[in-house]
Amino acid sequence: MDYVHSLKQSVEYSGSAMMMMEEREVPANPNNFTVWYNYFSGAFPDLKQALDILLDSDLEFTEAHNAAFYRKFCSSPYEAIPAPLIAEKMEVELTAVLATLERAGRSAADYGTTLETTSGQLTGAEGAEDLKQLINRVLTQTRAMAEQSRDVEHQLKDSSAQIGQLREQLEVARSEAMTDALTGLANRKLFDATLRQTAMEAMETGQTMCLLILDLDHFKKFNDSFGHHIGDQVLKLLASVLRDSVKGQDTAVRYGGEEFAVILPDTALEGAFAVAENIRRRIIGKELIDRKTGERLGRITVSIGVGQFAPGEPLRELIERTDRAMYAAKDGGRNRVVSQEEPSERRLAFGT
Ligand code: GH3
Ligand code: MG
Ligand code: MG
Repeated sequence: MDYVHSLKQSVEYSGSAMMMMEEREVPANPNNFTVWYNYFSGAFPDLKQALDILLDSDLEFTEAHNAAFYRKFCSSPYEAIPAPLIAEKMEVELTAVLATLERAGRSAADYGTTLETTSGQLTGAEGAEDLKQLINRVLTQTRAMAEQSRDVEHQLKDSSAQIGQLREQLEVARSEAMTDALTGLANRKLFDATLRQTAMEAMETGQTMCLLILDLDHFKKFNDSFGHHIGDQVLKLLASVLRDSVKGQDTAVRYGGEEFAVILPDTALEGAFAVAENIRRRIIGKELIDRKTGERLGRITVSIGVGQFAPGEPLRELIERTDRAMYAAKDGGRNRVVSQEEPSERRLAFGT
């Protein structure tokens, strides 16, 4: 993440962070430090609130607590990648390349010695027979050297292909760590990180940010009637509607089982409501048909809550407020969009 603090501020936060770790006998490693630095800078209100609750309790603050705070509030989804495994494979490849180069170096040196010796013997050669023997020796060695060079080239090509594969594996692991396997949407872990990042940017730029929380209506009944497999197909369908309904900078997420969310940067409440309404209409507009049997399965509806971020509030509050709006949509009869009840302008006015 980007830090915008001045030298004076950063020294102050760092000093306080070091003191907190020392008092609690927590090692001052970069992860633990990040937690405390963000605590004092106030960059992550959720982190501050959660940490304050823990500090106010009678519980002892341990190294494990510190690590858990880092994972929950500060780590990036990329850290879930099995990096040590890939690093290990990479090391094996590099060792092989080094061994090959060393062998090649030794052969080249031997070859050089042969050439040098032969060249020294040329002037002293007695007659054609002698010369022929010298030439044959150089020819044999040169062929061997060429052979060796081809081997080296093959081995280097092979290693380069292996390393290329490792790079692809890393890319796949990176994207899997952030993706929901069934729908291909962002997963909860990426949601947490993106929401945090978007909220930070909103605070820095003064732009608004909104959140949608969506929950399929009577989905249990749907599953019970048509089976889990068909249910899964509907979840995929909803995911594709979400993907088609949002812009590039927005993030559509599978939040839980049949709950989804959309993060809308640079969007105010009315705009977010319109996005939600568009999604709702598209969903009910789809007539569901079992592709295998042709059976008509009716239509499915979705209830959507809309919330707007109030700069400085803990993100948990935004999520809870948006969730309440979603439940209000359920209570209001489902298949509808409801905006948060409390206007966030009040908090905004208070915060500025
Ligand atoms: P409501 O309108 O109040 O949201 O009712 P509902 O039935 O949708 O809500 P409830 O929370 O009672 O049930 C959610 C159901 O979603 C339970 C389960 O059958 C279904 N579900 C959750 N995750 C999955 C999943 O991964 N695949 C499938 N097929 N169904 C799921
Ligand atoms: Mg639900
Ligand atoms: Mg539901």
